Amino acid sequence: MKKASSNPQTRQWQDLGRDHHLPPFTDYKQLNEKGPRIITRASGVHLWDSEGNRILDGMAGLWCVNVGYGREELAEAAARQMRELPYYNLFFQTAHPPALELAKAIAELAPEGMNHVFFTGSGSEANDTVLRMVRHYWAVKGKPSKKVVIGRWNAYHGSTVAGASLGGMKGLHGQGDLPIPGIEHIDQPYWFGEGGDLDPDEFGTRVAEQLESKILDLGEENVAAFIAEPVQGAGGVIVPPETYWPKIREILDKYDILFAADEVICGFGRTGEWFGSQHYGLKPDLMSIAKGLTSGYVPMGGVVVRDEVVEVLNQGGEFYHGFTYSGHPVAAAVALENIRILREEGIVERVKSETAPYLQHRWRQLAEHPLVGETRGVGMVAALELVKNKHSRERFPAEQAVGMRCREFCFDNGLVMRAVGDTMIIAPPLVIDPVEIDELIAKAHKCLDLTASAVL
Ligand code: PLP
Repeated sequence: MKKASSNPQTRQWQDLGRDHHLPPFTDYKQLNEKGPRIITRASGVHLWDSEGNRILDGMAGLWCVNVGYGREELAEAAARQMRELPYYNLFFQTAHPPALELAKAIAELAPEGMNHVFFTGSGSEANDTVLRMVRHYWAVKGKPSKKVVIGRWNAYHGSTVAGASLGGMKGLHGQGDLPIPGIEHIDQPYWFGEGGDLDPDEFGTRVAEQLESKILDLGEENVAAFIAEPVQGAGGVIVPPETYWPKIREILDKYDILFAADEVICGFGRTGEWFGSQHYGLKPDLMSIAKGLTSGYVPMGGVVVRDEVVEVLNQGGEFYHGFTYSGHPVAAAVALENIRILREEGIVERVKSETAPYLQHRWRQLAEHPLVGETRGVGMVAALELVKNKHSRERFPAEQAVGMRCREFCFDNGLVMRAVGDTMIIAPPLVIDPVEIDELIAKAHKCLDLTASAVL
């Protein structure tokens, strides 16, 4: 158990947490024993906690603070919009300038032929919208039996009932009878964990072929859409083998089903392109967005929709769907300013040509560490596998909780790195510079050493 803080202010906040707060994705029993870490401020790629520690945020918050912390322009944009029009809704044939201008700005960046945006308040709501929209689309097209959406095991598409069902995380499914009916899953393209003796390319083809088997099992006439992230993030940064997406594309082209790319993490520059779909040459019909849309400064999400889908929706009368905060004017103003910063400062281009190649080069050097079985990554997102035996890929027993211990060493040594089982992952702000990348790698290396001496 962690020592109680000697700082009375920290202890006071921790008491408030214990007495009044139910936080997300937290083991409540453990929390009540230890109390949460309190983050009080941030600037650039660094956080400060209530103990005064400076911590490099290797996760950009929750994969979202793409332009880094402390951008005054975003605070100004929010304040300006709050004074002008703090709230109005987009229901019942009304609109306001920030939402309309933002929809245009997103359409300019999206893959060709995706010119419309339905706004939501979060990524989960975006994926709920995908589910409702694809079913509505097929009903309008006169094929109401096409209802099933196929997702992937270990995917994360959010925490609402639909989001958690579309995702394939056993933990989420285990609480509250999920998934809901009408959602099916196929395997993820996770070669290191599930590829066995196959080489990565053959494995990539095999898991992609599961999509075809699933469509045939269910009957094409019952399948509405396939949903997937270009790079599966929360599942452990699952970078697919090169054969995976071309095979999926081939299958999607063969059958009459829609493709929804969940770009909540990959969107807005994470892969070095504006969208992960552009990085992999995918052709989505719908794209869920959130996180990097506002760099996390205010909540906002949306679904970007292909023209052909919009043409069908236009025939369908009223779409009975929407949120009080769909296209919230303050969020839209912040998103517009965030996109302006990303564009005018050439942040996405710099990720692609300079900082991501450097990060990936330095990250790969960690593969030499005795505890590391594989490193992988794309753009500004990367993972490494902690293993007992790097040659046989043998894992540590789960009860040793090696990933969690490594994560704790990281936090105690000034680095946020996330643990998914024994997979350590990073997704730093896109503005991280080479000196800060060196800091990240040095800290990661030190924490691997500390973990190794604790577990080997
Ligand atoms: N989709 C993906 C790929 C995500 O990573 C997340 C959140 O991490 C979501 C959807 C859900 O987004 P939100 O937490 O904004 O509801």
